[in-house]
Amino acid sequence: MTEKILVAVAWPYANGSLHLGQIAGAYLPADIFARYHRLKGNDVLMVSGSDQHGTPITIKAEQEGKKPGEIAGRYHREFLESWQRLGISFDLFTTTGTENHTEVVQDLFLTLLEKGYIYKAKVSQPYCPQCNRFLPDRYIEGTCPFCGSAGARGDQCDDCGKPMNPAELLEPRCRLCAAAPVFEESEHFFLKLSAFQKKLLEWVKPKSHWRKNVLNFTTRYLEDGLKDRAITRDIDWGVPVPLEGYENKRIYVWFEAVIGYLSASKEWAKSGGDGEGWRPFWQGDDSKSYYFIGKDNIPFHTIIWPAMLMGYGGLNRPYDVPANEFLTIEGKKLSTSRNWAVWLPDYLSRYEPDPLRYLLSINMPESGDTDFSWREFFRRNNDELVATYGNLVHRVLTFVYRNFDGCVPTYADMGATINVPPLDSRDSELIDKAIAVYNHIYADGGLLSACHFKRAIMMAMTIAQETNRYLDEKSPWKIIKENRGAAATSLYVAICAISYLKTMLYPFLPFSSQKVHEFLGFKGSIEDYVRKYPLQPLPTPGQKLGEPEPLFTKLDDKLIDEETARLGV
Ligand SMILES: [Zn+2]
Ligand SMILES: [Zn+2]
Repeated sequence: MTEKILVAVAWPYANGSLHLGQIAGAYLPADIFARYHRLKGNDVLMVSGSDQHGTPITIKAEQEGKKPGEIAGRYHREFLESWQRLGISFDLFTTTGTENHTEVVQDLFLTLLEKGYIYKAKVSQPYCPQCNRFLPDRYIEGTCPFCGSAGARGDQCDDCGKPMNPAELLEPRCRLCAAAPVFEESEHFFLKLSAFQKKLLEWVKPKSHWRKNVLNFTTRYLEDGLKDRAITRDIDWGVPVPLEGYENKRIYVWFEAVIGYLSASKEWAKSGGDGEGWRPFWQGDDSKSYYFIGKDNIPFHTIIWPAMLMGYGGLNRPYDVPANEFLTIEGKKLSTSRNWAVWLPDYLSRYEPDPLRYLLSINMPESGDTDFSWREFFRRNNDELVATYGNLVHRVLTFVYRNFDGCVPTYADMGATINVPPLDSRDSELIDKAIAVYNHIYADGGLLSACHFKRAIMMAMTIAQETNRYLDEKSPWKIIKENRGAAATSLYVAICAISYLKTMLYPFLPFSSQKVHEFLGFKGSIEDYVRKYPLQPLPTPGQKLGEPEPLFTKLDDKLIDEETARLGV
């Protein structure tokens, strides 16, 4: 039966280029997962978009003397190009700047207000006497009241991950001028989070399929007690409050951006010509939603967004929130402000997408932080992608191409009279292993469906190693002169293993898998092919092969120092 899978991915602030931390944290795992479900024949809707409204954008705009919309537009275009080049296969990547988004946000706001989950209250708001303005949360810095970290912002502490109200910050100061803010009264709307605490705890309790870090963090957070949070701010950039008398306020970004998952789904449905097409993904009993985010975003997706959905009613809550931990760079915490980061457009200007997808998959920060280093990138590219997998494909296919008239070896060449190749126990052993690993990765309840991406790609690579060992034992290149049949059989077996490999690796390495698919003589896209023939028919003997080319490029180790030297400058 076809499942409906909503793949909801974190919304990046459109105030700077994407970096590898974000790719490893959310975008790559989401893409692997979406591609996997598409291959399985499930209906996938993968959405996200640029967050245009956050104060990170207004801060950047003020720094550059531009309008926030210009900044957001520039980076949104850059994001779209990056997704395409890295192969992040969104069904829709939109922005929070659309009319559709405003409508959906205002509908949620008014519904929650009507149901009593949003209320008005006077709040003392930080005001900078030197800048003469109210300060949005991110314009304030200070000491975290929970963990004592010095660099906490008015909305959240990056060190302990706890969201907060700006008034809770210790020793607050204005980020623009460093003056101490004063607090002045202003009327705002609040989300009554406290009303959902018990219901959320009950909802979270049976989520044993969640990652441990996500479940523990969420449970602890809920047990500490939920405070109501202001959802409007005195700023002029953002979604307007849909009520008279509040023209100078905007709906605050943390409330508004999570609604993007829903508004993007609706936009996707409208653009596809079926305005109701979003419903099966949000309301169906057979649908599941997965939210791919970094760990700093956990409370917004396991507590606040589910609370908003509970209050609104009639929409599915997250099925899973497989949040990743952080990626460090050369052993140090990634920092965009200190340029201790590897920027995606910069990477893509010099290297192919699949080697990065490979490294970040096999080194994914699923259950703890992991490190990116250029040395490891070069080593894994050269030793694993090129030497283990690429060379396997290349030496088998070029040899067959030259010695069997550019075709998959035929049964006749193998000396068999019946219509199956004569396999010995070593041949069957390799095929059986490939099938076993394939099932372990692809089956319902298997590694990919449970978001164990790192283990899945590691297991797939064992089949490449195993096939190399098999060929070393059989050495078809040596025996072809005296025993063409035996050589043909082992080459055929190797081709079958390669055919399984291309599918196992497809969610991780879509570009090279498509190439292998074509080298093996298949037409069209590998995704369409596997969807159509889920039993994975093997290349047919006699099938015409495409002309093989090297799959990956060996990288010169001399460049490692050059790459490392770009960091932190
Ligand atoms: Zn803290
Ligand atoms: Zn100031």
